[in-house]
Amino acid sequence: MTAKEVLIWPDPNLSKTSMPIEEVDESIRALASELIATMEYEGNSAGIAAPQIGIHKRIFIAHIPPSDNNGNGTNGPEAFINPEFILKEGDLHWEEGCLSIPGERGWVTRSSRVIMRYLDLNGEQQEKEAFDYLAGCFQHEADHLDGKLWIDYQSPLKRNLVRKKMLKLKKQNG
Ligand SMILES: [Zn+2]
Repeated sequence: MTAKEVLIWPDPNLSKTSMPIEEVDESIRALASELIATMEYEGNSAGIAAPQIGIHKRIFIAHIPPSDNNGNGTNGPEAFINPEFILKEGDLHWEEGCLSIPGERGWVTRSSRVIMRYLDLNGEQQEKEAFDYLAGCFQHEADHLDGKLWIDYQSPLKRNLVRKKMLKLKKQNG
């Protein structure tokens, strides 16, 4: 599978709501492989969501080695389909980055412990408990499916500053 181009904010496609996946078939498994290839091509990233490559379907990939988060990680780069939080508790105040806002970071408050219900790549319903780093990653990626990025939680001043930098970057990249 080949890597796709990652959309850079403020691309309007990043702000659209994605549609639920009705059937987990070969096309969805191919999309998951494409997302993983893109994430790996882009280098150091814990996750990527389908709208970041312009596909408005509710699927994201997360990749957090369990050893990086007290045993609570993913099984390699793992796909999560139609995610839904059935529990959210506690506060996690941390700094996030995003492949769609390269080189920038911003402070966001997330829940520190979540239980997420989702479909796996076989179409089986699963539930996974996540805390700390993995919980934050799940919430960041699920936000993408609702057209939200960490930048949307920042002050107008910071948003404008980052917007200018990204527009300049896009111009340079042609
Ligand atoms: Zn992101």
